[in-house]
Amino acid sequence: MEIYADNAATTKMSRAAIDAMLPFLDTVYGNPSSLHFAGQQAKDALENARLTIARCLRATPKEITFTSGGSEADNQAIRSAAAIGRLSGKRHIVSDAIEHHAVLHTLKALEREGFEVTLLPVSANGIVDPAAVEAAIREDTCLVTVMYANNEIGTIQPIEEIGNICRAHGVLFHTDAVQAVGHLPIDLSALPVDLLSASAHKFHGPKGVGFLYARKGVRLTPLIEGGAQERGKRAGTENVGAIVAMAVALQETIDAMPETAKKLTALRSRLIAGLSAIPHCALNGDAEKRLPSNVNFCFEGIEGESLLLLLDDRGIRASSGSACTSGSLDPSHVLLAIGRPHAVAHGSLRLSLGEDATEEEMDYLIENVAQVVSYLRGFSPVWRDLCAGKTPFLL
Ligand SMILES: *Cc1c(COP(=O)(O)O)cnc(C)c1O
Repeated sequence: MEIYADNAATTKMSRAAIDAMLPFLDTVYGNPSSLHFAGQQAKDALENARLTIARCLRATPKEITFTSGGSEADNQAIRSAAAIGRLSGKRHIVSDAIEHHAVLHTLKALEREGFEVTLLPVSANGIVDPAAVEAAIREDTCLVTVMYANNEIGTIQPIEEIGNICRAHGVLFHTDAVQAVGHLPIDLSALPVDLLSASAHKFHGPKGVGFLYARKGVRLTPLIEGGAQERGKRAGTENVGAIVAMAVALQETIDAMPETAKKLTALRSRLIAGLSAIPHCALNGDAEKRLPSNVNFCFEGIEGESLLLLLDDRGIRASSGSACTSGSLDPSHVLLAIGRPHAVAHGSLRLSLGEDATEEEMDYLIENVAQVVSYLRGFSPVWRDLCAGKTPFLL
């Protein structure tokens, strides 16, 4: 059996999205900035895609700026809010410890430019406390940035409450919604969010394309200077085919969302129940407030990388934390932030399900993870010491 359980890293493009993209790689190749027919054909497709995306999230087309993906949208959102803050001498930003590196590293860069950043801790189940956000807001706070749903442990943050607090204090609020758009219901006509980032390849669109929502009146600063594309907010000839495919993919996932969420929540429960039977393990993240597709466990006495590779041999494509941190020996910053000790954080496994997942697949996952964990523990010196009582079990 082959199971792709790494949908938080990227998703398979939908057939409809591929079909929508193909003409733009072939016959419809005009530059949307050109005034002739071929250009206007591309321009129409681009603006239709913008309208579709805006409608999907109940925003207006002018509030949607196309980017090269989630990382660029995060960078631009944060840098734009920082630029607005600079104008009035506000150089303080509030965020939290479990953000994606696209957010954390942008904040680090701003610190080097004279900004001050408060990174809030999260609870043991990976949730940001809105009261802590309120307590962290100061006179000179220009931005609060808290992700909608976490890419590693799937926890869903209290975005509406945090947004209301920001509103009450007149502070801009950005949310990295890359894991949420297409997966959770989002209504920007009601949600108190000023800036929101999304990426197509997380909802069955192509890689290298995404968008930044900026509420009317919130001025975006271009990261890329050049032509007047995207109303001067993002220079460069638009990736028309990818943008069109993104709109098709978003519409499709949102239409299917109620059914998908119900189905995946049931499969997730089955998987969590099955994996919980493995001795000395723990679920990471909140049991309820999590993405329907996300399962993340720590298994004591093993290395996540070995687990991953042996599962790969059995046809299971999983992840141990975020794809961006693999290749480095540091355990996931998210697992450390929820209080997992280093030794435990190293033995993590993330399974992120796709819409086509089945019960049989969940059972295959449970059986194989249990076997591989037991096999790896069989020759782990760490596990031997734990069993001999030389070191105490942490889970
Ligand atoms: C994938 C991801 C990103 C980065 O998006 P790209 O389009 O790959 O640049 C940012 N934030 C979160 C939460 C993500 O999951």
